[in-house]
Amino acid sequence: MIGEFELQKNDSILVAGAGGFIGGSLVAHLRKQGYTNLRAVDRKPISDWYQVFDGVDNHVLDLKELVSCVKATSAIEHVFNLAADMGGMGFIETHKAECMLSVLINTHLLIAAKETGVKRFFYSSSACVYNADKQLNTDVTALKEEDAYPAQPEDGYGWEKLFSERMCRHFREDYGLQTRIARFHNVYGPNGTYDGGREKAPAAICRKIIEAKTSGDLSIEIWGDGEQTRSFMYIDDCIKGILKIAESDFVEPINLGSSELVSINQLVDIVEKIADIKVKRNYNLNAPKGVRGRNSDNTLILETFGWEPNIKLSDGLALTYAWIADQIESGKHLA
Ligand code: NAD
Repeated sequence: MIGEFELQKNDSILVAGAGGFIGGSLVAHLRKQGYTNLRAVDRKPISDWYQVFDGVDNHVLDLKELVSCVKATSAIEHVFNLAADMGGMGFIETHKAECMLSVLINTHLLIAAKETGVKRFFYSSSACVYNADKQLNTDVTALKEEDAYPAQPEDGYGWEKLFSERMCRHFREDYGLQTRIARFHNVYGPNGTYDGGREKAPAAICRKIIEAKTSGDLSIEIWGDGEQTRSFMYIDDCIKGILKIAESDFVEPINLGSSELVSINQLVDIVEKIADIKVKRNYNLNAPKGVRGRNSDNTLILETFGWEPNIKLSDGLALTYAWIADQIESGKHLA
């Protein structure tokens, strides 16, 4: 599958959104693998990036602006677009316009990539593109790639992702830009957001249980009735999958997610075990909850790559819990 599209160690690579969770982890990985020509771009001041590396061409640019995208992509062969205004349900249900404005990032990056002669363009889409009617039950049938149509995605964020996927497709068909698209299902791990309102369930539950343990107040709030189901992919699987997809000749959107389905209550059970405490669960039925059930059908990724994300949730959560505990203990705040 790799062949023609294999990345070479001295290729010029742009990671857009490199100050964030997945972008920062991608830069860390590429650097560790010996890639020497890396450019990292984010809108946030560098002091707020989750990971910053020497020997990387770091820039603060607002990629909603075309002129910034031209600067970011100049002399670049491969673009990984991980930049977006996003967060967990608490953020995307209350910031729909802001989420949709990320369309400017991907659109301007595509235009700039075409102008500056970029060879390959990876786009980070989301499971939020899937039709909401297929996610009404907790024992949900895992989502296959074709379930994105007829379109009825998550309002705001999901519509932007679905539109941007198609924009990538048409830049490939009409202009020959090699676009690749992964639909991420919930990603978690160290060096991600764990407080401040943009965090997702795994980091939020870890933080709440750490705080309960530290304060001695052994009760936590859970959004919804805790029976809603999801799958969660550890960051290392995500990075591995991004590179497999980017280096392949597979051009259609493809699921990149774990298929280990759990309810939020089961997620709490796992974190309780890691923390070695039991908490009282206060269910807030008015909080944002998202769809009732969602899982990744991995038939296509397995067929295409002979691989699927496979790091067990309990293993990934143990690492995530330890990292968040360390951040809180040492007074570092990422949000
Ligand atoms: P993140 O919020 O940690 O990182 C996104 C980064 O993009 C941030 O650092 C932000 O400052 C930057 N950014 C936002 N607007 C920008 C702009 N105008 N110019 C330059 N930089 C800008 O999010 P993440 O979890 O790392 O997500 C990366 C990508 O993966 C996003 O496209 C997201 O939609 C997608 N995704 C993530 C998940 C997940 O569970 N984390 C799930 C599905 C899809």
